[in-house]
Amino acid sequence: MIKGNQLYEGKAKIVYETDNPNELLVYFKDDATAGNGAKHGTIQGKGVINNKISTFFFKQLKDHGVKSHFIETVSPCEMLVKKLDMIKLEIIVRNVVAGSLVKRLGLPEGTPLAVPVIEYDYKSDELGDPMLNRWHIMALNLATIDEMNQIEHMSLAANAIMREILKAKNVDLVDFKLEFGRFDGEILLADEISPDNCRFWDTETHEKLDKDRFRQDLGGVEEAYQEILNRLTL
Ligand code: ADP
Ligand code: UDP
Repeated sequence: MIKGNQLYEGKAKIVYETDNPNELLVYFKDDATAGNGAKHGTIQGKGVINNKISTFFFKQLKDHGVKSHFIETVSPCEMLVKKLDMIKLEIIVRNVVAGSLVKRLGLPEGTPLAVPVIEYDYKSDELGDPMLNRWHIMALNLATIDEMNQIEHMSLAANAIMREILKAKNVDLVDFKLEFGRFDGEILLADEISPDNCRFWDTETHEKLDKDRFRQDLGGVEEAYQEILNRLTL
């Protein structure tokens, strides 16, 4: 595989072309942002850790029947993936009330939800990622009903698989964000699965082991990311 031109630089990753038109190289950065880019910082070692945690989850999900863009890890910070036609949606799955849901539902952080809740955000930095429902998604031609059904099915399957794996490591999966894309007529899971886009809480202490430590200036950010990697892989 030969690394080609930079295709895109985002807030957390850089995407490169490769000599294969169907494959991309994703470089995980140490940069961190919060509040739709309002807060900037660096989390030392995050790129390496998020590449490892994402690799771990993509492999586990594949073993349990959830297909993703992941091909292989090629360096500490780089992952080779299938190049997808990305669906401009962020799919959020929630098991416990946290983050923006506290205000929206008027419930205390930590309240368990009776069933997992799926939400859609429009992936648009200019608009601040507004929440959409299925009607908006159809009206904007972002995805078909059939694609949305597949996305929901895969998101709920990923939630069940990840919850089970994390439970055995004394970690609660509070909520997380997924992205999907199209490849050869199939819907595949894309992007990353890491403490940047999941809320992980220690089961006993409810200590936050994710990006909320950065968002809320709680300290111990690097240590929390490392702790999740250690619990999953050691
Ligand atoms: P953002 O764009 O939100 O700042 P990142 O810094 O994580 O996010 O940049 C990674 C970009 O690559 C995102 O826009 C994401 O949608 C996109 N992406 C992730 N996986 C794939 C893939 N397999 N094919 C094409 N694009 C992808
Ligand atoms: N999330 C994300 N990217 C976003 C928005 C949310 O990865 O642009 C993740 C976030 O890490 C959390 C879940 O989605 O695990 C739900 O986030 P919420 O809607 O509560 O957003 P917040 O209030 O944190 O902005």
